[in-house]
Formats: sequence, C-alpha cells, structure tokens
Amino acid sequence: MTPSTNSLDALPGSSAPPTGAVSARAVTKSYGTGETAVHALRDVSLDFEAGRFTAIMGPSGSGKSTLMHCLAGLDSIDAGRLWIGGTEITGLPDADLTRLRRERVGFVFQAFNLVPTLTAEQNITLPVALAGGTVDAGWLRRISASLGLDDRLSHRPHELSGGQQQRVAVARALLTRPDVIFGDEPTGNLDSATGAEVLALLRRSCREMGQSIIMVTHDPVAASYADRVVLMRDGTLVGGLEQSSPDAILAALATLGG
Ligand code: ADP
Repeated sequence: MTPSTNSLDALPGSSAPPTGAVSARAVTKSYGTGETAVHALRDVSLDFEAGRFTAIMGPSGSGKSTLMHCLAGLDSIDAGRLWIGGTEITGLPDADLTRLRRERVGFVFQAFNLVPTLTAEQNITLPVALAGGTVDAGWLRRISASLGLDDRLSHRPHELSGGQQQRVAVARALLTRPDVIFGDEPTGNLDSATGAEVLALLRRSCREMGQSIIMVTHDPVAASYADRVVLMRDGTLVGGLEQSSPDAILAALATLGG
C-alpha cells in the first residue's frame, strides 16, 4: 500500500478552485452531539480526477456512505468545502443544489430504481424529461449501443434481466454527461458474471466517454475495475492504491482491520 496521496493540493481558502471532477477539503461530519457523537468524517481532503473510476473502500462503519452522500450534496457537512465539476456546493441554497445534482450528477444504486410502467428508453430519458430538457438522440443511441441495450429499449423492466436493468440505470446516469456518476454498491444485487459485465461497462464509460465515476463498494473484485482505490478507516483516508488486483486490494483492506 502506498502512503496516502490525499494531502491538500490547495489549502482551504486558496483562490484557485480544485480541478478535480469532485473535490473535498477538510470535510468533517458528525452524527449526534456530546459524548454520543459519531465522527463519521474527520478532516477528509481528496480530489477525484476527471475521467477516472475511483472506488472507496473500508471496513463497515468507516464512513464510505457518509462520504459519498456528502460529496454528492445529499447530506450536509459540519465543516470543510466541497466542489463538483469546479462548482463549490458548500453553502449552495437547496434549490441550486438540487438543480446542480439533477444536471451534473448521475447515480447508480444497488437497487435499480426503474419505473416499472415505463419502457427502458423512457426510464433512461426520464430525468431529462422531468428537468424539461431535450434528449440528445445521437448520444442516447451511442450509449444504448455501447451498453448493448439497442434491442431492449422498448421493454419494460420486468421483461429485462437484473443485469439489463442495471445497464438501463447506467444509461440513465450517463445520458446527461454528468460531471460525475456515484455508484453505491452498483453490483450488490447482481450475480458475479452479470456484475462483472456492469463493472466493465462502467470502466468503458470512463475510457471511451471520459466519464468520472466514484463507487462505494465492499467487494475487492468490484474495486479491481477502478483506476484507483481509496481506503477509509474511522472517518479518515488511510491510503490509496492505483489499479490493483482483487488480492492486492484484499491485502490492503486486511491491514485496516474491522
Ligand atoms: P460505511 O458506509 O463505511 O459502512 P457509514 O458512512 O454508513 O459507514 O457510517 C459511518 C459512521 O457513522 C458509523 O459509525 C455509522 O454508525 C454512523 N452513521 C451513519 N449514518 C448515521 C445516522 N444517520 N445517524 C447516526 N449515525 C450514523
């Protein structure tokens, strides 16, 4: 394991905004107060470079989900600063944050979250439709072809396999060309072969479309698809690995305990 490379490139308050797809500076987040307070994030500073696939790993309770929710602007922080695509989200009014999330952030969760009465294509385009936007038909075709969904677009979710449903969710996330896609155990509901397929597609979307992806996972095999793995323990970043094998990731995790 290499030492943490997550030190500050730009100190809080410096004039230049960080250049990462997503950046955190000195982020702190606690639940509760006083003696029972849980310090879920302690002074976390980190840059997620554009066009890269990063996995966040660590023992249960190490703060992975909290970090992802804070980075995505889904949860508030106590102190520190956060940026998405160069825009500081710290202190943004709720309406602006909601709009920014809708337009510039994609999500792929463990549950596919598709609307059962809509076709695959309608599910993919739903967020754009809800936002009153116009679908880029050429981009939709490219995404569908790349994800192998061409002949499934008129199917409803119950007519699709789990892997196909998750590919629809990935297509939905890619359609707005977001600054970042957050994945929360995106293969947690899939068998290993289907999961591998979805992970390979996520990796390809980085390589071929320049998509930035941040994925929380407890699965070293899933993390081995990432360009980089950041390791957390007790609410802090304790290390990082560049593209690594499942065994190497497992070994790094073993040193963290938990
Ligand atoms: P991980 O995703 O790595 O399992 P979490 O981010 O879910 O870790 O949790 C980090 C710590 O914060 C844990 O101690 C957890 O119990 C606590 N925690 C998370 N969410 C809440 C909450 N809503 N209320 C109180 N404590 C929480």
